[in-house]
Amino acid sequence: MLTVKAYAAHDATSPLTPFSLCRRDPGPRDVRIQILYCGVCHSDLHQARNEWNGTVYPCVPGHEIIGRVVQTGGDVAKFSEGDIAAVGCMVDSCGTCPSCRDGEEQFCEQGPVFTYNSEDKYSGGMTFGGYSQSIVVDESFVLRVPDHLDHAAAAPLLCAGITTYSPLRRWKVGKGQKVGVVGLGGLGHMAVKFADALGARVVLFTTSPSKTSDAIRLGAEEVVISKHPEELKKHLNSFDFILDTVSAQHDINAYLALLKRNGTLTLVGAPSQQLPLTPFNLIFGRHQLAGSLIGGIRETQEMLEFCGEHNITSDIELIAIHQINEAYERLLRSDVKYRFVIDMASLQ
Ligand code: NAP
Ligand code: ZN
Repeated sequence: MLTVKAYAAHDATSPLTPFSLCRRDPGPRDVRIQILYCGVCHSDLHQARNEWNGTVYPCVPGHEIIGRVVQTGGDVAKFSEGDIAAVGCMVDSCGTCPSCRDGEEQFCEQGPVFTYNSEDKYSGGMTFGGYSQSIVVDESFVLRVPDHLDHAAAAPLLCAGITTYSPLRRWKVGKGQKVGVVGLGGLGHMAVKFADALGARVVLFTTSPSKTSDAIRLGAEEVVISKHPEELKKHLNSFDFILDTVSAQHDINAYLALLKRNGTLTLVGAPSQQLPLTPFNLIFGRHQLAGSLIGGIRETQEMLEFCGEHNITSDIELIAIHQINEAYERLLRSDVKYRFVIDMASLQ
């Protein structure tokens, strides 16, 4: 066992504070990764504050992890000491259920082992995430990062990247399609980059007029200020696909009405509140409402290769770990351009 420094939430209302935790010694298939960078996902905030219920304290968030392999078990084939490696939202799954066999471990019927706040079958306690100095993970849940991508800016690909890439691929977004992205935060800005790279015509819906020029730079053709209903109306019946990344209560009916016949609105944003649905917004136009959860390991590796080919990373603000509580407050104000990433060298 190795004792490492970390930052933890100790209850739903107090700031995160320094904490220490134990990492297991690597088993035959495990790699120990010294964490260099960890992205800050809005899910970290939802969990730290128990907004989804079920948070077990102390809770060490963080599931956008890039680091260096410092130790490998005897049977590890994919990684050697010194390699750059990445870990996303999952660290294990049953490996045998239909979802796991299909490479969709996020839907493991036994429940995937999430990187934090899941039962840890090794320690008997809960898993602890990336706001820590190192982590030990089975190599089949460790990803390779294309060499030329900036390490800090690649960290958010492990959640914000795969969570937006996966639905865009599943709903076959591409050339000739009009695609909407709702919300320009960590997920939203990756969705704009991916949908643009896939050849779609991208329209961004935002509550923040100040993000307009950034959205255009990131790949949107048009920006709609969602607080202005008359602006939304101009796009009625016109979208093939809309990806909703909003982290708080909002009106999904306004977006369902913008879909073309047979169009799909997919939710990836996970607010804890109910989102009321007016059935006629589905019935007319035969619209579909769907959801999507991160992505499997195989697709995450595919997404990283896609990012390597298209030179896609996240636009980040690098912070020190002691700035994490301020970063959470800024997330709540939609004030991040466009992902906070923690420089783990700051955790001394
Ligand atoms: P984020 O960086 O905070 O971005 C969320 C964006 O939503 C904000 O930047 C803002 O964009 C918009 N927004 C915030 N409050 C709003 C409101 N009241 N009304 C309308 N728009 C609002 O968060 P994130 O890290 O991208 O995560 C977004 C959501 O996805 C979170 O709920 C997170 O838990 C969830 N998530 C889901 C998955 C999955 O697998 N499904 C994976 C990761 C994260 P504008 O300023 O442009 O309006
Ligand atoms: Zn996340």
